[in-house]
Formats: sequence, structure tokens, C-alpha cells
Amino acid sequence: MDLYPKLIMDTLEKVRYPGTGKSIVEMGMVADDIRIESNKVSFSMLFEKPNDPFIKSVVKAAETAILTYIDETIDIKGNILVKTKQLQKAEAPQLLPEVKNIIAVFSGKGGVGKSTVSANLAVSLAQLGYKTGLLDADIFGPSIPKMFGEEDAHPYLEKTGEKEMIVPVDKYGVKMLSIGFFVNKDDALVWRGTMAGNALKQLITDANWGELDYFIIDLPPGTSDIHLTIVQTLAVTGAVVVTTPQEVALADAKKGINMFTSEKVNVPVLGLIENMAWFSPAELPENKYYIFGKDGGKNLAEALQLPLLGQIPIVQSICEGGDAGKPVALLETGITAMAFRCLAENLVDRVNFRNENLDASKKVEMKRGMR
Ligand code: ADP
Repeated sequence: MDLYPKLIMDTLEKVRYPGTGKSIVEMGMVADDIRIESNKVSFSMLFEKPNDPFIKSVVKAAETAILTYIDETIDIKGNILVKTKQLQKAEAPQLLPEVKNIIAVFSGKGGVGKSTVSANLAVSLAQLGYKTGLLDADIFGPSIPKMFGEEDAHPYLEKTGEKEMIVPVDKYGVKMLSIGFFVNKDDALVWRGTMAGNALKQLITDANWGELDYFIIDLPPGTSDIHLTIVQTLAVTGAVVVTTPQEVALADAKKGINMFTSEKVNVPVLGLIENMAWFSPAELPENKYYIFGKDGGKNLAEALQLPLLGQIPIVQSICEGGDAGKPVALLETGITAMAFRCLAENLVDRVNFRNENLDASKKVEMKRGMR
């Protein structure tokens, strides 16, 4: 059998995209990367959106067409790589050009301390001297304003050129905006979905974030359309995953990690944070009680070969600090403040390491291109 790219293209002409009824070749959905190695055929297909409902059926139809019209022994199953146009970062508009690193904070389930970690991480980064922004994107429970003692803040608008821009609230050296400033708690249900997604986009694109070293995004727990909106709107540097050592939390954290690393989302996971790692009573600070199990987060990180960025104990002052609007990371000393500072330093190291590697691989690519 004589296989060549044009034969594959001509065959794929016969496959129609159900959304338009047009041929997938005519629609430019077959990428120009058809590879043939003896009996094996592989290529990429481009879809507009990662949640295109026809992805599976169109890929299947393309496989079937090749097997039916050319030869049923061709090795094509599983060799079609799905790519989504929206996620091709190079093509995405460069939003927040003055922001160096965008870090998405994720948890598989609610209540594991994702917002507490986001708030304290942002404060620690600011204390280390980095220009830091924090976006509370948790539409299900926007708690960042309370943790910063800014529940009643009403961010104002400032005219920048032709446009009215939202001015983030500046507290503890962190520029901060929350979906909670704009959503009436009683209307929260109505806001979920598209409206919340659009409001969030506005908080990213229509706000004066200015120059930032780190832009921390406190995502909603679990997986939702909001996650996709964020990764499609912004070139996210990486995600950090917060979990407790408890089995149920670990299982959900794992699902989240799979989401980030999937073809559809494609955001690197920079590491795990184990929150509520143990409890130490104030009067016996040396004693550690592993209430939710021991080293669950650490073990998961090892199993997935991801860095463990920090282990944060259960300490009353963390909870009280959150309730009082003063994150514990503001303190100069103490084990909790140190734990968050250590976490921030580990994250910075990890991001620098990643950026250096990216730079190195870009240089290699450039060299290759020059040959
Ligand atoms: P999530 O954002 O994951 O829903 P929160 O950050 O709102 O979780 O935390 C849930 C509750 O647990 C809050 O009352 C918070 O103060 C408390 N909490 C979080 N982490 C700790 C910790 N390490 N020690 C003590 N309390 C904590």
C-alpha cells in the first residue's frame, strides 16, 4: 500500500464537521503535520474550542474514513492529536503584558484552605519584596475580602485613556480584587455560569493591575467552566494544588491535576501544598497530631513526581487571622508565618527554575531554526 499525505487529505475531505456540515479539510481543521511511518499515520486536528461537543465523533469519523477508504490495516487509532485553537498560547492576545507570573491556586474540594493559602501566599510574596496581585475567582465562596478585612470595599473606577478601569484594592502590599465585591451574596446562584465568567474576565482585563511579579488567582474548588475561562483568557504560568492529607481530598486533588495536565487545559502543575498537615496545640508546640492522616499530600506529590511546596499545620491563629482580616503571614515570627514564607520561597524557586528551562528550550529551538 502506497501511503502519502495527499491521499490522507483527500480521504479526510469526505469527513464533515456536524456543526457546519462542511468538510473538515475545507474548514482547516486538519493540521499540516501528517506523518507516515510505514503503516502508521498520525496528524493533529484543530478545533475552535476545547469543549467542542463534536471532538470525539469527528476524530472517530476521520479514523473510520482512513480505514474504510484507504486500508483497514492502517495504524491510525489513537494517533490523531486534538488541538484547540483557543489554547494555542502564541495566538492568544497578550493580556496583562506587565505581569510576569500568573499562578492559579486550585483545590479539588472546598474547605481545604485554598483561600487561606492564597491570601497568605500573596502576603508572603509581597513581604519578600515582589509586586503581587491577588484575584479572588472563587464564585462559590469569595472569602478573600474577609481575609483582608475589606468586606465593605467598593473598588472605584479610574479613567485610563479612553477607558474606565477598575482600581484594585491595595492592602498589606497586595493589589486585590474579588468577584465578591461585585456579586450580591443572595444573587450568587444567578451569577454562576456565563455571567460570572464574564465578570471575572472583566476583573482581569478592565482593571489596572499594572506591573506585577506574581498574580495569584484563587480559583473555585473542583473543576468548572470558570477554570477554562481563566486558562483561555490568560497565559497561566502554572497551577499549585492545595490539599489536606485526607483520602477524599487527595482523590479530588488528583482529578484536578489530571485536568490541568490534560490536552484541553495544558497548564503545568508547579507543585502541591499540604494544608492542615498536622495539629499542634499552643501549650505543646512540639507535639504533632495527624488528624487528617500523615503525609498524604507529601506521598501524593512523590507518587506524581511533583514538588511538595509546603506543609502547613493546623493552627488556631491561621483561622483567627482569616476571620479578623489579618493573614498570619503578616507576622514577623512564629511557625505559621515561617511556614507561609517558606512556601512563597519554594514557589519562587520553582517558577524561576521553570522560566530558566523555558528560556533554555527557546534558545535550543532558535538554534535549530537557524540551522
Ligand atoms: P477553601 O478556600 O478551600 O474553601 P478556606 O481557606 O476558606 O478554604 O478555609 C476553610 C476554613 O479553614 C477557614 O475557616 C480557615 O480559616 C480554616 N483554615 C484553613 N487552613 C487552616 C489552617 N492551616 N489552620 C487552621 N485553620 C485553617
